[in-house]
Amino acid sequence: MLIGVPKEIKNHEYRVGLTPAAVKEFVTHGHKVAVQSTAGEAIGFSDTMYREAGAQIIDSAEKIFAEAEMIVKVKEPQPNECKQLSKGQTLYTYLHLAPDPIQTELLVASGATCIAYETVTDDRGGLPLLAPMSEVAGRMSVQAGAHYLEKAHGGSGTLLGGVPGVASGKVVVIGGGVVGINAAKMALGLGADVTILDRSLPRLRQLDDIFNGHVKTVFSTVDALEYYSSKADLVVGAVLIPGAAAPKLLNRDHIAAMKPGSVVVDVAIDQGGCFATSKATTHQDPVYIVDDVVHYCVANMPGGVARTSTMALNNATLPFGLALANKGPKQAMLADHHLLNGLNVHEGKVTYKAVVDALGDQL
Ligand code: NAD
Repeated sequence: MLIGVPKEIKNHEYRVGLTPAAVKEFVTHGHKVAVQSTAGEAIGFSDTMYREAGAQIIDSAEKIFAEAEMIVKVKEPQPNECKQLSKGQTLYTYLHLAPDPIQTELLVASGATCIAYETVTDDRGGLPLLAPMSEVAGRMSVQAGAHYLEKAHGGSGTLLGGVPGVASGKVVVIGGGVVGINAAKMALGLGADVTILDRSLPRLRQLDDIFNGHVKTVFSTVDALEYYSSKADLVVGAVLIPGAAAPKLLNRDHIAAMKPGSVVVDVAIDQGGCFATSKATTHQDPVYIVDDVVHYCVANMPGGVARTSTMALNNATLPFGLALANKGPKQAMLADHHLLNGLNVHEGKVTYKAVVDALGDQL
């Protein structure tokens, strides 16, 4: 199969669909890979590295879209990319179609087979191609929080780890899933005093086992949210209700009651945010202040560490990508219902129920 990797064209998107190591895997399995020139250059993957891995370097995205049987990307295709897709081609990337009727219509019109990373499933009920980005965002949330706690960056001037004789900073993580666990790991590593709140008792039990009592676990009630946020130096918002907008767990009064110079990092901002005062920000302008509380609400946190994120994403996407190439998309999906769950659009039809439910009358 000929696999095409165009350069990402969204503003400040430096990730790339395949790393040179992933290209080598496809080539070793007998496939051809065409990578657009400079596709990985910004994150240290030069054209030479791709050539050495066995890829052909192509100057124009148009040629890749015209010739490749499977296109591997990171971000959802932009309108001019959608228009270059055609029937018989497979698109393998993040799509996030439910809030995006324009992209959905264009993909339907293309006739292509479109597999969304974010809806591929695993045996444990997880989303294996979304998890790496949650791991990245969770770990980054504490790094970002620690940075903005510094006085010069608008914070209270608190060092999360404290020093001998001075108490550690308090980190409160709301939601103990993939983001929350990774945030807690980083905060513990820095020596912070960490509390995780979650609505799920089985999850709290699991967290207690994982952290062996080194973090406090608290059932998430309005009362607990009020109390722990008022004592925190850093609050990380990491909740998810699958398929729904994030619940607003801290209202304006809760934010106003926080210590001046404390920081909130709302990782759930890509689902609308879990604090009433959150609004999406960018890596160029990541923070703003409400009631003396620094708000960091970057909607695509993993894009800020594009090199690590690309490698983490490739580790997760490669096995499914190889199955698609080796068996052909149809056989690969028939053989693996988890991969089939990734199918969102096929030959002119939306094939994913949640997208139909969200967009039905707009299509
Ligand atoms: P997850 O499903 O693994 O975990 C979510 C957790 O939230 C679960 O443990 C659930 O029990 C808990 N929860 C639900 N309602 C709650 C409540 N009222 N109080 C406390 N806990 C509650 O999800 P995840 O992968 O950790 O993702 C968390 C959020 O981070 C999602 O909104 C996801 O889209 C977002 N995310 C954002 C970025 C970014 O760049 N901003 C990147 C990755 C993930």
